[in-house]
Amino acid sequence: MPKATKQKRAGVSNGPYDRKASKGSSSANTNIFKFDKDFGQHILKNPGISDTIVDKAYLKPTDVVVEVGPGTGNITVRALEKAKKVIAIELDPRMGAEVTKRVQGTPLAKKLEVILGDVIKMPAMPPCDALISNTPYQISSPLIFKMLAMPNPPRIAVLMFQREFAKRLVARPGDSLYSRLSVNVNFWATCKHIMKVGKQNFKPPPKVESDVVRIEPLLGSARPNVAFEEFDGLLRIAFNRKNKTLRAAFSIKEVLAMCERNYKIYCTLHNIPIDESLADTTTVATTTTASADDDMDMDVDENDDNNNTINNGDEDQEDEEDDEDMPTFFKELKDAEAAKEAGKTPSRNPKSRVALVVKAKVEKVLAATGLGEKRARMCDQNDFLKLLLAFHEEGIHFS
Ligand code: SAH
Repeated sequence: MPKATKQKRAGVSNGPYDRKASKGSSSANTNIFKFDKDFGQHILKNPGISDTIVDKAYLKPTDVVVEVGPGTGNITVRALEKAKKVIAIELDPRMGAEVTKRVQGTPLAKKLEVILGDVIKMPAMPPCDALISNTPYQISSPLIFKMLAMPNPPRIAVLMFQREFAKRLVARPGDSLYSRLSVNVNFWATCKHIMKVGKQNFKPPPKVESDVVRIEPLLGSARPNVAFEEFDGLLRIAFNRKNKTLRAAFSIKEVLAMCERNYKIYCTLHNIPIDESLADTTTVATTTTASADDDMDMDVDENDDNNNTINNGDEDQEDEEDDEDMPTFFKELKDAEAAKEAGKTPSRNPKSRVALVVKAKVEKVLAATGLGEKRARMCDQNDFLKLLLAFHEEGIHFS
């Protein structure tokens, strides 16, 4: 879905009802009130596109569908005709009222449930068979992550995104748009481009072109048998500097500190004694640890679209848009990086024995997998999976 001006998502309590009065018209496609671009409100005015979005979801009469951002209901009414139920999650109460009015008094009304609120702030997405959305620009990334992280994700998702974002979904290793998002989507799902959508198909027209994509999460035994948070946690570390080697990414002291914390918890939970003899093997390596992240290699991060310091202007769309859900450690990592960039030197604690053990284990994994010198931007999903399993073998976890 096209972009809108970036702003922090608002809760329902301070939603647009408080600021703008609805004119009360029941006409679905006229400008009933001023569309709020801050909420990504670009209504589809070409019925053919609404039809295609619903058609490409191959809905069955038994399906429960979640639609994110029904707006005035252009896609909703078509989905209601084909599915058992549509749960429409809408941030703007004026829109919630419009979509309700649109089906009032028709047989479709009893199949529609409207939930007012921010889908990203909901503790969990309602279970469903299909997800459809002309997705508001601000929530593209968090919405996909939220869906992929579901233990039982929908069978199919047909989603409209701004073109640049859609390209990132299908990016392959080595592509400039390859990112943590690309790896996750293609690891947990298959993704297919459905169609291009020009800006003239929306009211008001957005600044950029859009694409419809179909994402089919892997289900049941086809779903990879690893925890989402673990795989994603590893990717966050690797793509924090995607043009650096994995060895450099895992030499950052905040990363090692997190591995150490998790390792201690793991050992305690599983009653595993820590083999401190490993500590003696890392004396040399640890002397370089504090500065390894500064530059173990000399590559310039010319294309690092996961680097949160980059600002390519309005059109840029970062994985970090899902920051609200970011685990604490990764917030700390970003804060530490920001402090470093601001020229502040964080205090350095003397290395504990466990820290040395963890450092040795990290080195062992990187050497054994042969991935230490590889850069995240060149790694495919099997490289990351191999790395994750090797870390797990050593008792090192990322969530
Ligand atoms: N589906 C309609 C409207 C799309 S515009 C159509 O295609 O014509 C995007 C809609 O998403 C708007 O109604 C906007 O209010 C809603 N929206 C924006 N952010 C949201 C969020 N975080 N959670 C739920 N709905 C949201």
